[in-house]
Amino acid sequence: MKQDFNEYFVYKNGELYCENVSLKNLAEKYKTPVYVYSKKAILDKINQYKEAFSSYDTLICYAVKANPNLSILKIMSDNDIGCDIVSGGELYKAKKAGIPSNKIVYAGVGKTDFEIEYAIRENILSFNVESEMELDVINQIAKKLGKKARVSIRVNPDVNPKTHPYISTGMRKSKFGIDIDKALDVYQKASKLTNIEIVGIHCHIGSQIMEIEPYIEAIEKTAKLISKLKEKGINLEYFDIGGGLGIKYKPEDNPPSPKEFADAILPIVKGTNLKLIIEPGRSMVGEAGVLLTQVIFLKDKGDKHFVIVDTGMNDLVRPAMYNAYHHILPVVEKERKIIADIVGPICETGDFLALDREIDDVQRGDYLAVMSAGAYGSSMSSNYNLRPRAMEVLVDEDKVYVIRERETYDYLTIPELIEN
Ligand SMILES: *Cc1c(COP(=O)(O)O)cnc(C)c1O
Repeated sequence: MKQDFNEYFVYKNGELYCENVSLKNLAEKYKTPVYVYSKKAILDKINQYKEAFSSYDTLICYAVKANPNLSILKIMSDNDIGCDIVSGGELYKAKKAGIPSNKIVYAGVGKTDFEIEYAIRENILSFNVESEMELDVINQIAKKLGKKARVSIRVNPDVNPKTHPYISTGMRKSKFGIDIDKALDVYQKASKLTNIEIVGIHCHIGSQIMEIEPYIEAIEKTAKLISKLKEKGINLEYFDIGGGLGIKYKPEDNPPSPKEFADAILPIVKGTNLKLIIEPGRSMVGEAGVLLTQVIFLKDKGDKHFVIVDTGMNDLVRPAMYNAYHHILPVVEKERKIIADIVGPICETGDFLALDREIDDVQRGDYLAVMSAGAYGSSMSSNYNLRPRAMEVLVDEDKVYVIRERETYDYLTIPELIEN
């Protein structure tokens, strides 16, 4: 008997289910690779966050880049969740899913003029500004449009979130934000700009953070700056502390819950008297999704075993990009175990899902579930090697909804022109 990875993906008589749906039946019907999301897992997480922060005026802005599927954004909008966006494309989808502009905040170091104008016209809650030059450009564009743009300054509090360097954003050497020591000057400058309205302060220190301590450090440093700003007559309305809470990738992982997170940070935030914004992405949807794949071939090279599956770095790049661990479970349990590399079909040595992993002794045609693939899975997928992107389905109790169709070969050629 396997221990269940979480309460949404459970074994019944040796077969893996998502809520009340057999993943074997699902894979046979829809084919693989397919991303499967549990609606209940997403709703439960939303409610855990809401509950955890219920004692304080808090706006939850889901980080769209974690999973921008329209149906997932619709779940957010139906549950009064706002959005944290990092591009015009994300703004477009957030609006399409019904997220109101007054719940949208916009971060990112490289906002183009086009994107800035679009977001000003949409009247979003706040630009989270990452450089002085960006501030000037937002002011100019707002002036041209005869509007005022609401901004927060993204400060870089120089703390180490103790996560993978590629997803660590709050250290001085990273490209993100404005050094916290310089921020006071930038605020004073911003307060003199005619078409800028200062509304808040923002920080986001990284992703897949498994300890509360770095948050406390960042929030304390930023809270000090907030008092200094007050002394200078710069009054803010929002304290946006970003996202980044980690999730369970390995069975033994034990990330802080939204409640533990809230209980630790709210006392500091309360001292500022500002409304709070949080921007969870991964922790809202990550554990709610799996990537289902089928074993195509088995191959032995001496005592090294390879399990070759029909999904790879084009569908899920995290192992190749961050050397990330994803737990892999058989859809139908087997008695015997093997140790193997589980690899994809892409022509890259980095195209693996797991290396030297003990897994069930699967055979050609068997299905595997790559766990905790709901965030930064589909959203980072590509057509590399001209593989159509995977289908995505949402499970709601015993119902399965297709929320993204499998791409066709036609789709692969649509944007291209033969001009010679
Ligand atoms: C990516 C990002 C988030 C979400 O991070 P998670 O680790 O997915 O919670 C929040 N805010 C900003 C500014 C981001 O860039």
